Amino acid sequence: MTESDLPSLWTHEPHTHLEFRPGDKVADIDAGATPGFRGKKADAPALQAERNARFAELQEMLYANSRSGDPRAILLVLQGMDTAGKGGIVKHVAGAGNPQGIRYKSFGKPTEEELSHHFLWRIIKALPPAGHIGVFDRSHYEDVLIVRVHNLVAPEVWGARYGEINTFEKALVDEGMTLIKVAMFVSLDEQKARLAERLDRPDKYWKYNPADIDERLKWPLYQEAYQALLDKTSTDYAPWHVIPCDRKWYSRLAITELLIEALESMNLSWPPADFDVEAEKKRLAEA
Ligand code: AMP
Ligand code: MG
Repeated sequence: MTESDLPSLWTHEPHTHLEFRPGDKVADIDAGATPGFRGKKADAPALQAERNARFAELQEMLYANSRSGDPRAILLVLQGMDTAGKGGIVKHVAGAGNPQGIRYKSFGKPTEEELSHHFLWRIIKALPPAGHIGVFDRSHYEDVLIVRVHNLVAPEVWGARYGEINTFEKALVDEGMTLIKVAMFVSLDEQKARLAERLDRPDKYWKYNPADIDERLKWPLYQEAYQALLDKTSTDYAPWHVIPCDRKWYSRLAITELLIEALESMNLSWPPADFDVEAEKKRLAEA
C-alpha cells in the first residue's frame, strides 16, 4: 500500500457513516464497530500520521486566512461518558495541530460564579476566535446530561435548554462557526476495563475519580439523556456524530476525518501577499 492509498481505506466520506439520523437509537449503538473503515487496526498508525499532517496543514491555512479578515472558526464539541477517550482526541487528534490556533477548554462542575449566570455564560466566554479551532472537552451539553440525570435543576429548566441550545448554535453558525459535535460511546465492558486500568497504574490514578463509578451505575438514565440530546439537538446546521469508541484507533481516525472534511469544505487556500513580493525581495537583498 502506498501513502496516497491510505485515505481510501474509508468506503465513503466518514461523516456519512457517523451522522446521527432521526430514529437512530442509542441502545442500538455498537461501540466496538468501525463503520465505514475498510482497513485494519494495523493500518491505523500510518494513516493517523498522514491524516494528522493533512489536518495540521489545513488548520494553519484557516489561521492564516483569519489574519486577513476571514471570520470563520471551528468548534469541536466532545461529549462522552468517562473513559470514552475525550482526552485521547485532545492529545492525538487536536494535538497534531499548531497550539497557536487551537483553543482547548474543559468543562467540569460549574463554580459558584458560573452557577450564578445563565448556563451558556461560561460557554460563550470560551468560544474560539476567528481562525481558531476550539476544542470543548465536555460542553453546554452537560447541562442536559448530568444535570438531567441528577435533577440538578427542575425539569422545566433543563427541558427548555434543548431549544435554547439550538437557537444559540444557529447564531454561531450564522456568524461563521462550523460546529462538529461528536458523541463518543464506549461499551460498559470496555469502560470497566479502562477504569480497572486506571486503578492498576499509578500513572493513571490522576484520571480516576471515585464518582465515575456512580455515573456508570446510572448508565440507563444517561442513555435516555443521550437519546433526548441526539433527538432534539441534531440540526441540519449542527448535526451530531455518533462515534463508536471501544477501539481508540478507530475513534481517533474518525474524528480526524470529520475535522478534515469540515476544513476542506471551507475551500481554504493560502492568502495572497498583501505586499509587492518582488519589491520586497529586492529590498531584502540590499538590506
Ligand atoms: P472530567 O471531565 O472527568 O474532569 O469530569 C468533569 C465532571 O464535571 C463530570 O462528571 C461532568 O459531568 C461534570 N460537569 C460538567 N459540566 C457540568 C455541569 N454543567 N453541571 C454539573 N456537572 C458538570
Ligand atoms: Mg473523568
